[in-house]
Amino acid sequence: MIRLRGHHLFCLSLFAGKGYSGDFVKNMRNIQKQQETDGSFLLLERDDDVCLACPNLLPGSRCLLGTENVLDRDRAAIEVLGLAAGELYRWGEIAERLAGITEEEFEVVCGKCRWKAEGLCSREKLIEAGKRLRSPKG
Ligand code: SF4
Repeated sequence: MIRLRGHHLFCLSLFAGKGYSGDFVKNMRNIQKQQETDGSFLLLERDDDVCLACPNLLPGSRCLLGTENVLDRDRAAIEVLGLAAGELYRWGEIAERLAGITEEEFEVVCGKCRWKAEGLCSREKLIEAGKRLRSPKG
């Protein structure tokens, strides 16, 4: 069972091949394949299967980029999507919410992220991803 932290629901949907290391990118691509076929995942508010291949993961479930910062984004993502940590979901179940995300909600989750600042992520791209997830490849 894939384990995903809240804000990584946004990261995976927006992932376009850039990341913190080669291993990180490879791992993201593998998890993204599972997303494309509407696989199920366990929602977390802590380090997950994406973090496992990340060079920023520190002992004790901490993150080099700021443990509290990433936890805040987990909570924000879980709240705007109307989900609950500890529950199982399928991507198809949250596709509609991703496709209907408001600018304000997107800013709360992604506003301070470096990848958005680099121009890789936007609300428009997230909406497109949500629409794609409504019709998984199977
Ligand atoms: S360890 Fe930190 S930077 Fe790396 S994937 Fe997890 S939350 Fe993101």
